[in-house]
Amino acid sequence: MRKVFICTLCTVILLTGCGFSVTTDKTEPVGRTKVHNDTETTEKTPEEITGLENKVIVIDAGHCIFSQSRQEEIAPGSGVTKPAFVSGTSGANQTEEQLNLSVALRLQAVLEKMGAKVYMTRTTHESDMSNIDRAQFANELNADISVKIHADGSGNTSISGVSVLVPGTKYIRDNALIDKSRKAGEFVLNEIVSATGANNRGISVRDDMTGFNWSTVPVILVEMGFMTNPQEDKLMETSEYQDKIVMGIVNGLKMYFE
Ligand SMILES: [Zn+2]
Repeated sequence: MRKVFICTLCTVILLTGCGFSVTTDKTEPVGRTKVHNDTETTEKTPEEITGLENKVIVIDAGHCIFSQSRQEEIAPGSGVTKPAFVSGTSGANQTEEQLNLSVALRLQAVLEKMGAKVYMTRTTHESDMSNIDRAQFANELNADISVKIHADGSGNTSISGVSVLVPGTKYIRDNALIDKSRKAGEFVLNEIVSATGANNRGISVRDDMTGFNWSTVPVILVEMGFMTNPQEDKLMETSEYQDKIVMGIVNGLKMYFE
């Protein structure tokens, strides 16, 4: 009699236990993924796989407010020098340095959200990093790519549009760096044009850029548009247009890394 009772009890516990575990199995993972435990690894949906996870990306917001005035070599051992610090162009209500930083910070936020490891050459207006310093910053990080953010200017106020500058072969002997930069530049240019609807001014291969010639990692320079063109300048003042540029760069980089 006693044996029968214990057995029945066991069965009840087993059944109840089983019943509970079925319920928990069904509900717990949902609550767990949505509510808490950030450190827990969960299965990623296709939308969450960005292709940028752990990519080391340097963002260089072009120009800065500087206090130094000196020359630096445009390429290692070239003997040719250029000013280490130059002011950029300007629009009606902001300088290029300000616009570059604004877009760079937006780009940083999106890339980090997508899992990239982002390093900024500057996050403030003032900086003492020259173009060589900025190249070496990316070299030391062994960055997967360095993206320089600039805006254009011209005496002809009717000129508008986006272009991407990539390194040429005059001083750079690393063909893989040249090819990768070109490929990244083309993707980024096309994606910015399709995101913004801006005039496509194409890829420009440059041998005279200090920031390119000292680089040992792939590097591109985005000329977002002309601050001297009143219409484009006005667009570039808006956060909406800046976000379009950012999405263009991000989509271009995603395609490059694929
Ligand atoms: Zn510039």
